[in-house]
Amino acid sequence: MAILDRLPTRDWFIRFDVVNDDACVICGSGMESRDHLFADCFYARNVWNVVLGLCGIRSIADSWDQRLNWLVVSLKGKSLRTRILKLAWTGFLYHVWEERNFKFFRSISRSSEDTVKRIKEAVKIKLYSLSLHIIDDGNKELYINWELI
Ligand SMILES: [Zn+2]
Repeated sequence: MAILDRLPTRDWFIRFDVVNDDACVICGSGMESRDHLFADCFYARNVWNVVLGLCGIRSIADSWDQRLNWLVVSLKGKSLRTRILKLAWTGFLYHVWEERNFKFFRSISRSSEDTVKRIKEAVKIKLYSLSLHIIDDGNKELYINWELI
């Protein structure tokens, strides 16, 4: 849904004259669109940069399109880092959207640290279900960062 830009963000409602306020629900600045919510918003940027750091990847300031292009190249292969990054990417999309909806519908805000924690937990559960928890010294840093040991 996010990749196809089909999430019901406020920019979509503005196009059809359903709402007047187009501000991002999470940060209150910038028009709420897919690109803002998942790439430009400081909240999402903080979360994504931490996720990249946990994967041993230096964070970069990127737009939605740049990130997607980078992911298409980076998500090839079956290394542990690639598997974690794939799971973390889907977890990132899910949990940032969930944060937006929690704030919009319930007026509940969670810190970016909480969201990272939820993504880590989701990645960990999925890796264990795939039996990818076998210790490998070559990926020791990944195991430690993602609390897999
Ligand atoms: Zn925002």
